[in-house]
Amino acid sequence: MQGLQALLDDVWAELQGRDERGEVATYIPELAKIDRGKFGIAVATPEGDTFCAGDADEAFSIQSISKVFVLTLALGRLGDTLWQRVGREPSGTAFNSIVQLEHERGIPRNPFINAGAIVATDVVLAGHEPREAIGEILRFAQFVADDDSIRIDPDVARSESDTGFRNRALANYMSAFGNLKHPVEKVLGVYFHQCAIAMSCRQLARAGLFLATGGCMPITGQNVISSRRARRINALMLTCGHYDGSGDFAFRVGLPGKSGVGGGILAIAPGKASIAVWSPGLNANGNSMLGSLALEGIAQRAGWSVFGP
Ligand code: GLU
Repeated sequence: MQGLQALLDDVWAELQGRDERGEVATYIPELAKIDRGKFGIAVATPEGDTFCAGDADEAFSIQSISKVFVLTLALGRLGDTLWQRVGREPSGTAFNSIVQLEHERGIPRNPFINAGAIVATDVVLAGHEPREAIGEILRFAQFVADDDSIRIDPDVARSESDTGFRNRALANYMSAFGNLKHPVEKVLGVYFHQCAIAMSCRQLARAGLFLATGGCMPITGQNVISSRRARRINALMLTCGHYDGSGDFAFRVGLPGKSGVGGGILAIAPGKASIAVWSPGLNANGNSMLGSLALEGIAQRAGWSVFGP
């Protein structure tokens, strides 16, 4: 295998010139303003190195990638009883589907579709005011990234709240089934802010490293979660991390991953690396087009796959 830096430089250079980059998400007005030409890659390794290419130091809206951090916190709160309120099956439908929720009587399919993530947020909110829960989630992202400079973008949070009709519908629906314990507006206040956390690829790759190393932060030696829990979160990322494009992502990339409509993807190569990519143009399933191709190229060339050598 060539050196990791040279590998990233090659993959970045091959894709950077590409015209077909997908469409930037417009349903959150603030996200529609982002330059479609941005493209960054970062890979963090258990040895403590971080390799970067392109716009890897520019912060972007992590959106649904925050669901990984909030799931980690919710499991810390409730342990396996969380699974009484959220399922663990791929959804095969859009990330904000209401139809499925009706069929399944208010129990969302998995923690990575919006409804499931809103339940996880409700769990983290227990015993707190919304601003304290937002603080806890932000501090967790800062802790695992080992970087206190990470912030929430208040304009993105406001923009999402102003247009969050579907998320309000999902939350109200779950409340009707008794699956939210707090008022809808409080839960969504937290949810919109967690989605508006802004991180660079470098920060995000570092933040994901605990999932690649059996739950501990290799540099500081601090334990975040058990190795069993890290494996399970990875399993959910593999099966559910890309909405109804999860099967295709597993087929092409072969690694657990979580995407967000801001155009970021966090992928985990267990034992090897945590990888973050960002390009705001999305494919038909709402996943970063260039980001998915970059991960496919990196995984293939590095020989990283959870399915075999
Ligand atoms: N904040 C977005 C929403 O709830 C997250 C969607 C995503 O990144 O997939 O609509």
